[in-house]
Amino acid sequence: MSSSVALRLPSIDGLLRHPACAPLAERYGRDSLLTGLRQLLDELRPDVLSGQLAAVEIGPDVLAGRVGERLAQQQRSHVRRVFNLTGTVLHTNLGRALLPDEAIEAVERAARYPLNLEFDLASGKRGDRDDLIEGLIRELTGAEAVTVVNNNAAAVLLTLNSLGARKEGIISRGELIEIGGAFRIPDIMARAGVRLHEVGTTNRTHARDYEAAISPRSGLIMRVHASNYSIEGFTARVPTAELAALAHRHGLPLLEDLGSGSLLDLTRWGLPAEPTVRQALLDGADIVTFSGDKLLGGPQAGLIVGRKELIAKIKKNPLKRALRVDKLTLAALEAVLGLYRDPDRLAERLPSLRLLTRPQADIFAQASRLQPVLADMLGETWSVSAVESLGMIGSGSQPVARLPSAALCCRPQVSKRLRGRYLLNLEAALRALPIPVLGRIDDDALWLDLRQLDDEPAWLAQLSQLQATP
Ligand SMILES: *Cc1c(COP(=O)(O)O)cnc(C)c1O
Repeated sequence: MSSSVALRLPSIDGLLRHPACAPLAERYGRDSLLTGLRQLLDELRPDVLSGQLAAVEIGPDVLAGRVGERLAQQQRSHVRRVFNLTGTVLHTNLGRALLPDEAIEAVERAARYPLNLEFDLASGKRGDRDDLIEGLIRELTGAEAVTVVNNNAAAVLLTLNSLGARKEGIISRGELIEIGGAFRIPDIMARAGVRLHEVGTTNRTHARDYEAAISPRSGLIMRVHASNYSIEGFTARVPTAELAALAHRHGLPLLEDLGSGSLLDLTRWGLPAEPTVRQALLDGADIVTFSGDKLLGGPQAGLIVGRKELIAKIKKNPLKRALRVDKLTLAALEAVLGLYRDPDRLAERLPSLRLLTRPQADIFAQASRLQPVLADMLGETWSVSAVESLGMIGSGSQPVARLPSAALCCRPQVSKRLRGRYLLNLEAALRALPIPVLGRIDDDALWLDLRQLDDEPAWLAQLSQLQATP
């Protein structure tokens, strides 16, 4: 055996006393530091015993540095800001609508101080949280009453269960949809205790189909916005006004799940027409449900609006308590609804509408400005061009409509065989940036749609950290 002294790991106590560790204890707490050091030494021990590590690799400064990195990593939030350059504005996986300043301030106030969530300041008696936004909803939609729950899926579940349990719900076969994730109308109906009575066909359903299905077992008629698919060609659906009249002749309520449910006619901003909540109610729907974070541009919530006595029945359902919204959501929702009182300024003030209506020329100018910067970063292997592109509203609004936009289109200048790998590598490198950049791969290129690149300085500032891709 050689006479060299076997390497030994420093002791935990020694490390804790070492000056390099003092700032870590201060920053992350002694317990976290201790746990981190123990884990690190346990991991290194086998390599030390087998002689695979040099003395410098287990010096106190090196170990302190490694533990420091680890603790910093652990402390970093898992909820991360990203750049959504996918071209889909209301992206469900990226948090849908961005809140306006007014809503952010309202959320902060509600988070920081006690508030009259369920307290009537006029009488000093117990209040109802839905009352906080009822006035605004009545004004903006013409509804008699409102109740708010966690999201639109909850709104549909609660409404069906409150008005149709143990009875039949009549719905067109063309509206038995799935909205991504696990939301499927037949399943929700079953869970709500409503027996599905489907009528008509996938492409055509007539008033006589609904009429023939009505019996003493019927509890309601339901209509669902097709959201994420569209049927073209030989189609027929019964207009809401006619369906409502038919339902009311038989003493049944008509529920309309609008999905996105816009409060205003979007064609005013050049966007594709979406049915409005007010129109659905005017047409005779008794209850209309819609999301808070889709076209409305607010927080995640499900709004149930319509006839007073039906809303009262829905609010009495014990499930309402399980599905209700919290104070932060209500605060944000009230602030967002408040902006709708001044439609002329809405597109400036509501981020989702501002982004949806951003002119293509504006986005293209930005793409042209950024093209040389990105081309420079990516080097010879990539061709980067500023091009016109097509985006989407997202979240089931207008599935076939496209938003004219502009993008940075990155094409690898390599053999066809290698292209796929290059694209995936670039996509991963962009995702690994401090503020991950998310684009989309399509047609042998990586597209960064710039419609939503608001914070250009932050985007540029981190670009130099893009790890060179092969
Ligand atoms: C999006 C959507 C839902 C679900 O709404 P969430 O707010 O995501 O729960 C339900 N119905 C329709 C028609 C939709 O488009």
